Amino acid sequence: MIAISLQSGSNGNCIYVEADGVRLLFDAGISGVQAEERLAAHGRDIRQVDGVIISHDHSDHIGHAGIYQRKYGLPLYVTPRTLAAATSRKPLGKLTDIRHFHSSGLIRLGGVTVQAISTPHDGEDGAVFIVSAGGKRLGIMTDLGHVFKDLLQLVASLDAVFLESNYDPDMLANGPYPPHLKSRIKGPRGHISNHEAAELLCRATTGGRLRWACLAHLSEQNNHPDVALKTHRGVLGRSLELAVADRYKVSGVFMV
Ligand SMILES: [Zn+2]
Ligand SMILES: [Zn+2]
Repeated sequence: MIAISLQSGSNGNCIYVEADGVRLLFDAGISGVQAEERLAAHGRDIRQVDGVIISHDHSDHIGHAGIYQRKYGLPLYVTPRTLAAATSRKPLGKLTDIRHFHSSGLIRLGGVTVQAISTPHDGEDGAVFIVSAGGKRLGIMTDLGHVFKDLLQLVASLDAVFLESNYDPDMLANGPYPPHLKSRIKGPRGHISNHEAAELLCRATTGGRLRWACLAHLSEQNNHPDVALKTHRGVLGRSLELAVADRYKVSGVFMV
């Protein structure tokens, strides 16, 4: 299995995963042209993607899904409530190939299984995902709300993970956001902090399976890649390979 982060953060999210001949995009938060170009930079054709799977209704995850389908013919995997919530705020345009899944259910495509896990994030019906193929397991886990029950056990069961590490608490406290937004972010339905993510990874690595983590969905105002990495290294030492998904650029190819 391989994975590529096309972009990660509140400006737009999209992660490509390829396994057993199946090609998937997780979330459609960047423009079709950006997704096409960033996949092409790694020799991939967006028209060959087998489906785009949406985590939740926030526009940084679903905003461009209509274009992915109309321009490139991609089936849209989405829960009914997520689709209804997103379209009630901003229409996605004409959709003709919608494949519903349940936010605690499974999607099977060829030899690939995608397990959806419902989250307490403040989307309407949000989920994170575990992609399994050929005995390997990759987590795509952002917009978590908080470190909910079962999350540790799930992360410990993975070979690799894209894990939300959204904010540094001091930067959030001293930053420019209004009080209600600060409360939302650090509240139980917002995002998880660098330290929470690091603690989670630290406990998960004791299982011995996890090989790497790519820190994802970093806040622009309330975090910085160096700050996030420093926090994680402080907790984890050298026990885990770490990377940071860029807020604007495509990553290299991650092997799972
Ligand atoms: Zn988000
Ligand atoms: Zn969200």
